[in-house]
Amino acid sequence: MKKDYIFTPGPTPVPPQVGLAQVSMIHHRSPDFSVLLERVLDGLKYVYQTRNDVLLFTSSGTGAMEGAIASCFSPGDKVIAFAGGKFGERLVEISQAFGLKVVAIEFEWGACADPADLKKALAANPDTRGVLLTQSETSTGVVNDVEAFGSIVAKTNALFMVDAISGLGAVDLKTDDWGIDLCVSGSQKALMIPPGLAFCAVSEKAWKAAETAKCPSYYFSFKAARKSQSKTPPETPYTPAITLVQALDVAIGMIREEGLEAMFARHERLARATQAAVEALGLRFLAKDRSRAFVTTSVWAPEGVPAGDITKFMRNEFGMFIAGGQGKLKGKIFRLAHVGYFNEFDIVTQVAALELTLKRLGQPVELGSGVGAALKVLAE
Ligand SMILES: *Cc1c(COP(=O)(O)O)cnc(C)c1O
Repeated sequence: MKKDYIFTPGPTPVPPQVGLAQVSMIHHRSPDFSVLLERVLDGLKYVYQTRNDVLLFTSSGTGAMEGAIASCFSPGDKVIAFAGGKFGERLVEISQAFGLKVVAIEFEWGACADPADLKKALAANPDTRGVLLTQSETSTGVVNDVEAFGSIVAKTNALFMVDAISGLGAVDLKTDDWGIDLCVSGSQKALMIPPGLAFCAVSEKAWKAAETAKCPSYYFSFKAARKSQSKTPPETPYTPAITLVQALDVAIGMIREEGLEAMFARHERLARATQAAVEALGLRFLAKDRSRAFVTTSVWAPEGVPAGDITKFMRNEFGMFIAGGQGKLKGKIFRLAHVGYFNEFDIVTQVAALELTLKRLGQPVELGSGVGAALKVLAE
């Protein structure tokens, strides 16, 4: 019997109770939905650690990234965008699509974005209207120092936009305290629900910019979303993915029950166990700085083994879907997952499958060495 495992950094496994929350349809203009939406919007503020509005959209995460750019900037506005992976590149591409002038800071995939580069770029571009950064660069496994960037941007007139789609809920992110003006996230990563909802926390500074912003927008217009959400009771401008809001309600309940701090600690523990296993197996990491890299673990395929052989073998033999590399890392790395609905035994299962895979692909593996190393960390 083949059992399926979705061990990817998005979509992530959906807890059964979250899945079951979607079975009955309610109307989005009903009192039941209003109560639900109000509770969910309040829960999002808890997850975001913010007092500001969190807007909700029906789309994958990229929709809210586009909405943030379109709603708060005008064509010709200068933005500094950090691109050290596929999702950093997306920040550049969306900005260009809306006619913004992009100062792209490209850096090695696997390295962290450097706050010193931001200082230099701001000094050379005092007319900068926005700074765009990926928190957890899911394509490389790197987690950037958002707090350090925020403290630099706070001293300027620029807006600080963060793509926290895979990081929110997995690693600490203090939207207000770290000065994030536009904080984008999505449903299918640490928040443990299926794909289809996107979010953005919006600061007062960003709402001021939105007053004069001239990029065209309609479906992802932040003003339209705010207008509906600020009604009593709150609404959405268009038909939302109702069942996903029901799912999110249950997921937020789980997050509140575990507590944010405990959730971050769990992600760190599982990541450290995974890292220990990778090291014990003699494999190399892509991410250089792993002190915050607790969302996904990216690993170079061993010499002479295409990464696709590893992911394909795991999928075909064990029903285990793990992610390969994206963009220029395709075929070179594979990514082990521990974001969202994961516990110790998911890590052990994943590492065991990796060991068997490497062995069957002819690699010198001492069976149990990775699992043992992971268990040692988990026993601490
Ligand atoms: C998943 C992800 C996205 C969004 O991708 P969608 O397919 O639009 O949900 C954006 N940025 C990061 C860092 C991600 O991990």
